[in-house]
Amino acid sequence: MSLPPLPDSATWIAAFNRATDDVRAYLATVTTTADRLEETGDRGEGGDRTLTLDAEAETLIFAELDRLHADGAQFTALSEERGTVNYGSRDVLVVIDPIDGSMNAKRGLPSHAVSIAVAVGPNVVDDGTMADVTCGLVADLGVDERWTAIRGEGAFLDGEPFTAPPEERLTSEGLLELVAIESAHPRHVMASADALLEHVHRLRATGAIAIALCQVAAGRVDGMASLWRCRAVDAAAGQLVVTESGGVVSFGDLDDPLNSPLDLVAREPVVAARTAAGLARVARLPHR
Ligand SMILES: [Mg+2]
Repeated sequence: MSLPPLPDSATWIAAFNRATDDVRAYLATVTTTADRLEETGDRGEGGDRTLTLDAEAETLIFAELDRLHADGAQFTALSEERGTVNYGSRDVLVVIDPIDGSMNAKRGLPSHAVSIAVAVGPNVVDDGTMADVTCGLVADLGVDERWTAIRGEGAFLDGEPFTAPPEERLTSEGLLELVAIESAHPRHVMASADALLEHVHRLRATGAIAIALCQVAAGRVDGMASLWRCRAVDAAAGQLVVTESGGVVSFGDLDDPLNSPLDLVAREPVVAARTAAGLARVARLPHR
């Protein structure tokens, strides 16, 4: 098989699904709590302690990227643990979180995901933002839901278009009925408490930003907010699933919502909702 230097979105997504199958099969072999808690002893490029789980998942994903490159694809990879890896082009960037929700994965909780996005543009490695993301996959490994999106073509669950509600559900008091919070450190929850009381009826804390974004896309929650800074690897694929579902996302600036760099720096919180009015409310939740 030979690929053009820039494969089409369907080719990327098929490759990301194959990589996810490999990660899922690997995780099924790591069943004891002690094995899931094992650390490699390194810190990833993103700064967190690397779990063996994260490192092995990343290795499996890079094996798929190696195959794409051997078949002719040219790109740069940016991944949570390895950082930047050159596969021949600075105009295509593959943004990878091998496991979003690592803490859930290591404790055996179901909500953890493979998150991979592709961004395309002139020197996107240095200059790219969320607005340059053209396709992505968020694979929720707990329930095995595969969320994908292709810019301009829509968002899909397990390969099928899904119907997202146009608007938030509000309670009779006018509160957002159900909102997902991420980065839910008690300090952040306390600092956001007044805004949460003002806007939200019930909270859900999934523990994986990518998955929380997809739940907004499907209207399972009325909005999401990371209460603290978010990294591009966590949100690059999920934000496209939201926008292609008809929802809205912001990384700190409601006037230029997708202008956030594709790098490993923890930047502004990510917030998402079904409508601009909902977004303005969830944007109040993270404290500064
Ligand atoms: Mg991760």
